[in-house]
Amino acid sequence: MLRREMPPADIATGWLLRLSNDGAAPAADGSLLGWSDAWPEDAMRLGYWNDAPVAVALESGDAQWPPLRDWLAQASAAESELLATALQVTRWQRDHRFCGRCGHSTRRLLHEFAMQCDNCGLRGYPRISPCIITLVTYGKEMLLARSPRFPPQRYSTLAGFIEPGESVEAAVRREVMEEVGVEVGRVSFFKSQSWPFPHSLMMGFFAEAASRRIRIDGEEIVDAAWFTPERLPQLPPVYSISRQLIETHRGAVAVR
Ligand SMILES: [Zn+2]
Repeated sequence: MLRREMPPADIATGWLLRLSNDGAAPAADGSLLGWSDAWPEDAMRLGYWNDAPVAVALESGDAQWPPLRDWLAQASAAESELLATALQVTRWQRDHRFCGRCGHSTRRLLHEFAMQCDNCGLRGYPRISPCIITLVTYGKEMLLARSPRFPPQRYSTLAGFIEPGESVEAAVRREVMEEVGVEVGRVSFFKSQSWPFPHSLMMGFFAEAASRRIRIDGEEIVDAAWFTPERLPQLPPVYSISRQLIETHRGAVAVR
């Protein structure tokens, strides 16, 4: 697993994860990490992987490597964490080469994930965007919805970004009301998952509906309906927190 402790700046040997814009390179044995005796100069240190230093290199060009979502689909929990970390910090570094306050070039600090402006002193850290994702339930039934971006037939739980100044619980109630017009009663936390597309932190909740009538917004959501555990539509992939919410509810009502 990933130990979040930065290797010293003079270390340039260890595990290396090679990313392109959309994919990750398979190592010689087909796995995600290969051993490198000399990391590229611009490699970013991530920490330690099974007690050996690990870094990530973002390579330009159009390398046809397996897509990141495919890697995530078969990754262990520890590998998912490493991949999500690598993906987010490399993109953050790529996109924050200049100071957002004064416009000067920034430089990467080596002892932590931070970009420093030496002109005005502003220090920037990787952006993490907190989102709520919630399964609305009514007894056994689950409210699932379709976004226009989904593959055909796919339904999922509701999700949305938390707005500045808003509490997480309020965001759950607001998103459900906005997207499907349903008022929710009890809201309970399930678990969270990093979702590196591009830098979301999904916080999962169960929300008990106070009413069944659905009124969709027609923009973020093109269809929504109540589903029983016996008759479910096509669902998101098993590694997603959305699917885990659905399966957990399904398991809970089956044993009642
Ligand atoms: Zn500055």
